[in-house]
Amino acid sequence: MTQILRMSNLYAPTLKEDPSDADIDSARLLLRAGMLRKAASGLYTFLPLGFRVLKKIENIVREEMDASGAQEILMPVLQPAELWEESGRLNDYGPELMRLTDRHDREMCLGPTHEEIIVALVRNELRSYKELPQNLYQIQTKYRDEIRPRFGLLRSREFVMKDAYSFNATQESLQETYDAMGKAYGAICTRCGLDYREVEADGGQIGGKVTTEFMALAESGEADLVYCSCGYAADAEAGACLARPTLYEVGAMEKIATPGVHTITELAEFLSIPESSTVKALSGKDAEGNLVCLFIPGDHELNELKIEGLVPGFTLLTDEEMISFGLCKGSMGPVGLPEGARVIAATSLQAIPQWVVGANEDGYHYVGARLGEDFQVDEWADLATVKPGDCCPECGLPLEGARGIEVAQIFQLGDKYSRAMGATFMDEDGEEKPFIMGCYGVGISRTLAAIVEQHNDEHGIMWPLSVAPAHICVVPLTVGDAEVQPMAEKIAKDLAELGFEVVIDDRDERAGVKFNDADLIGWPVQIVVGKRGLKEGKVEMKLRRTGEKKEVALDALAEMM
Ligand code: ATP
Ligand code: MG
Ligand code: MG
Ligand code: MG
Repeated sequence: MTQILRMSNLYAPTLKEDPSDADIDSARLLLRAGMLRKAASGLYTFLPLGFRVLKKIENIVREEMDASGAQEILMPVLQPAELWEESGRLNDYGPELMRLTDRHDREMCLGPTHEEIIVALVRNELRSYKELPQNLYQIQTKYRDEIRPRFGLLRSREFVMKDAYSFNATQESLQETYDAMGKAYGAICTRCGLDYREVEADGGQIGGKVTTEFMALAESGEADLVYCSCGYAADAEAGACLARPTLYEVGAMEKIATPGVHTITELAEFLSIPESSTVKALSGKDAEGNLVCLFIPGDHELNELKIEGLVPGFTLLTDEEMISFGLCKGSMGPVGLPEGARVIAATSLQAIPQWVVGANEDGYHYVGARLGEDFQVDEWADLATVKPGDCCPECGLPLEGARGIEVAQIFQLGDKYSRAMGATFMDEDGEEKPFIMGCYGVGISRTLAAIVEQHNDEHGIMWPLSVAPAHICVVPLTVGDAEVQPMAEKIAKDLAELGFEVVIDDRDERAGVKFNDADLIGWPVQIVVGKRGLKEGKVEMKLRRTGEKKEVALDALAEMM
C-alpha cells in the first residue's frame, strides 16, 4: 500500500491570485497549485507535488530507455574546460555555457550537455567493434545560461534532462539505434499524454545532420511548425527560413584511406566505384582542415557542383596545399594521402527535391551548424512561401500550421566528437576508426510544463493519470464529523490498498476551498464524502477532466475505479 498523502500537512501552498511574474499558463498554474517556486531567474524549486510529477515523468523515460536496451549512468555536472577545448566547443558554445574557475585556477564548466565527458569516458574503454553498439543515458540537471530565461520550466537555466549517447560501429547500426530512440520517444510522449508531432529535419547523410525534434503542440510554444496528415512536418520557427539547401542525396561511401600514395584507379576500386563510370576526383579540405578526396560520378564542370554540401566545410585545395599534402600540383593522381584522410564517393548526385529546415543563425536547428558551410543556402524562402495551406512537399495535401514546444530531440552526430577527441575502436578489418555517435535528449522538466500547457482549463491543471501527483483525492466535507471523517479515512485506505495513490483533504477548510484546490492541483478523480450522501450509503465521484459527477454507492466504489 502506498502512503496516503494528507493535505493537512502537505507542503503545497496554493495561491488564490496569479503570481505577477508568471508569463505562461504552465508557470502560473504550477506556482498557484503549490507545486513549484521560483528561486531566482530561471531557477526553480520543485515542491512535493511538483517533484512527484517530475519523478513520474523520469520513470516513464527510464522505463522506455531501459526497454530499448540503453543503460543508465550518472556523469558529473562539473566538467573540466579542457575537454571542451578538445572538442572545439569551448568557443563554439558561447555564453550559454556556464563557466567557472576552481581554487586552483582550473577552468571548469557546468554541463549543458555531455558529449565531451562521455567521449572521454569511452575512448579509454571501448576498444573493439565487438563491444558495440552501446547506448548510455543519464537523467540529470543541466545548466544553460539562457539569454532570456522565461516561460517557467520551459526555458530555465537549470533543468532536468535525460541525455543518451550511442556509440556505433557503422552508419547502419547508428540508424538502428536512432530508430529505436525515435520509437522510445514517441512512446514517452504518448505515455505523458502529449499531443505531439515528430519534426524531421533530414539534412543529408555525411557529417551527421540527421535529426528529429519532438514537438508538443501548444499555442504558447516557441516553435512554428507546419505539418501534414501524411506525417510530414517541418519546424518553421519564427524568424527562421525554410530553405532549399544545396545538400545532395549521396549514396555516399566514406572510408579512411591507408596513408600512402594511391592511384585514382586504386582509390576508385577501394570505394567500389564501377570501372565504367566517369568520375571526377577532387581534393579538398573539410571544415577541420583534414584532407578529403571526393569522387563524384559524371563529368561535371566543377562550378556546376555545389560540392560544399557534400562535405561540411569542403574547400578545394590551393596549389600550395596540394604540394604540402603530397599531391602533384594541378593533377589528381597519384594521390598521396596522409593519416586519417577521408575518401568519399558520391555514387549518385541529386539535389534533395524537398524543402527542409534551414537556419538563419549559427547553431540553430542543426546543433553546431555553420551557415554557409554545413549547408549552403542558395535560395532563402521566408515563411510566407511555406505556410499553412500550402501544398505538402511530400504528398501535396494542404499543410496545417501549429506552434510547438520542443520537448525532445534525437540526433545522428556521426564522428564529429569522436574524431575531434580521438575516440576510436578497432573495426572488423582491424582498422582503427572513430566511433559513429548519436545523441538523444528529453527535457524532463520542460515536458512537465508542456503537459500542463496542454492539459488545463480555467479552474487549473488536469493531469493525465500517468503523471498525476496522485490518482484520487478523497474530500471529507466536514472534518471532525463522527461519520464523515472515519468513512473518508476508510475509503482512502481501501483505495490505497487497491494500489491507487490517494490523497485525503483532511484540512479543516470550507468545502469551496477544498473543491477549488482540488481542481487547481488537478487530481484526476475526486471523491466527495458528505453527511447527506452517507445517509444513503453514497459518495460523489467527480472526474476532473470532464467535470462529470456521479453518485456512487459505497460498496460499488472499488469496482468503479
Ligand atoms: P531550444 O531550441 O528550446 O533552445 P535546444 O534545441 O537548445 O532547445 P537540446 O540541446 O536539443 O535543446 O536539448 C534537449 C532537450 O532539453 C530539449 O529538447 C528541451 O526539451 C530541453 N531543454 C533545452 N533547453 C532547455 C531549457 N533552457 N530549459 C528547459 N529545458 C530545456
Ligand atoms: Mg537551446
Ligand atoms: Mg532546439
Ligand atoms: Mg534541440
